[in-house]
Amino acid sequence: MLHCRPMSVRENGSPRPAAAAPYGSATPPERRVWCNRTLNLRAIKAVGYDMDYTLVHYRTDEWERAAFERALAPIAARGWPVGDLRFDPASVIQGLAFDLELGNLVKATRFGYVIRAHHGTRPLEFEEQRTAYASTFVDLSEPRWQFMNTLFSLSEANLFAQLVDRLDAGKLPGILGYRELYQVIRSALDEAHNLGELKSAITADPDRFVDLDPEVPLTLLDQKKAGKLLLLVTNSDWGYTRSMMGYAFDRFLPKNTPWRGLFDLVIVEARKPSFFSGQQAVYRLVDEEQGLLHPYHGALEAGRVYAGGDALLVESSLGLSGAQILYVGDHLFGDVHVSKAMLRWRTGLVLREIEPEVRALEAMRAADARLAEMMARKVQLDARLARLRLERQRREMSYGSRTGPAAGRRVEQIEAEAKTVGDENQALDALIAPLAKASGEIGNETWGPLMRAGNDKSLFARQVERYADIYTSRVSNLLAETPFAYLRAARGSLPHDPA
Ligand code: IMP
Ligand code: MG
Repeated sequence: MLHCRPMSVRENGSPRPAAAAPYGSATPPERRVWCNRTLNLRAIKAVGYDMDYTLVHYRTDEWERAAFERALAPIAARGWPVGDLRFDPASVIQGLAFDLELGNLVKATRFGYVIRAHHGTRPLEFEEQRTAYASTFVDLSEPRWQFMNTLFSLSEANLFAQLVDRLDAGKLPGILGYRELYQVIRSALDEAHNLGELKSAITADPDRFVDLDPEVPLTLLDQKKAGKLLLLVTNSDWGYTRSMMGYAFDRFLPKNTPWRGLFDLVIVEARKPSFFSGQQAVYRLVDEEQGLLHPYHGALEAGRVYAGGDALLVESSLGLSGAQILYVGDHLFGDVHVSKAMLRWRTGLVLREIEPEVRALEAMRAADARLAEMMARKVQLDARLARLRLERQRREMSYGSRTGPAAGRRVEQIEAEAKTVGDENQALDALIAPLAKASGEIGNETWGPLMRAGNDKSLFARQVERYADIYTSRVSNLLAETPFAYLRAARGSLPHDPA
């Protein structure tokens, strides 16, 4: 189970698991647990889980389509023509940012440079994009940007892109700009999530919406029997939580252990991220049968269900500090960023979309190696061309040393070599272009991989490495690791490391 153990560092700096050792596991690459910071699971006393898209995974094409369609009702009530808008799950990915000033969706590198942008649903031409972002980089602390932190953002981004088109076409009366448009979409989605109809449709037909994983309950059972306290901290309400957890867990657990028996503490309506960042004066005890909420004060008691509360209250009630608690969730900001930044909890991020990406990366290994070889040759050719240009310049302007590699050569001879090198370089470019294009389309034809932006890490990846101690595609990947694993971080790479 040594997926996080000694890493060889690839030329591009990404960690790769060591070659199979005698006790190596047969875990497929896309189901591994990757570490940014070493995590000894034996030192973890409590494991907290988020529910939606973490313990319970949804089919985004169904769930986000349903949210998208429900959100259209309050928007249509404003008299806007939205009856023909359609949810397109492949048109966006998590990790993009909305630019509320320009009405764009952008993908940025770890330094915030925009490498791809759409205005509404239309891709920006190269020059347009350069002009728009030549002196701008994405800084998520500015109100101009809204980041897509979770799969719940897929419906939001679909609405934003399509309604920007309508706004530009002058079809949305009474709206002043993209920022205001975004606010309308936000409140429509809040309404869709909170009013109950959406959740009723899901609980009435969970087979359609939920992608069951039979190994998640066993993963938690292992942890519980190993002595860990298990917590469920979700923004969903009790009725929905009870329904979804019962559906996704009970069938896979022993008869005498319903899902509630797994958890020492359940907190619903948690209001993350403020659950992690502030203290909530009011929280309530949930009557599990009736669903009634009773005002409550004082320490949280084991075995109970609460609505609201906060992370400091959890720490003090359990007598634990942040380093002893691992919290696992899918929301990059609400689950992982804030819990790490405010309380130094250990953090795990669940990223289901990484599975097809890792499979595609594995399938492209041979092409990747060819690409690396060609790029190495290109580096040599570029350096030679630069050298030859300088020689010609010195010759033409009669200065500098006459003892270098081109000493004694005439300008025409230098130019002839420059042409040969330039021709090889061009031929190489023609071979590199399709391989680089294919690599840039992994995961999503339009936006490319979640964690990469061109040759660099994406802004999403930067936050993952900063705030998530570990990341993995699903909770059940912890099953193979056992509750006793020592998950070691890869050695960080730097550009000056020996190749
Ligand atoms: P968690 O991931 O288990 O914390 O729960 C997420 C909850 O937040 C679910 O009940 C979602 O329906 C809800 N949710 C997700 N996005 C939005 C939103 O944009 N507005 C309101 N509620 C949301
Ligand atoms: Mg969630």
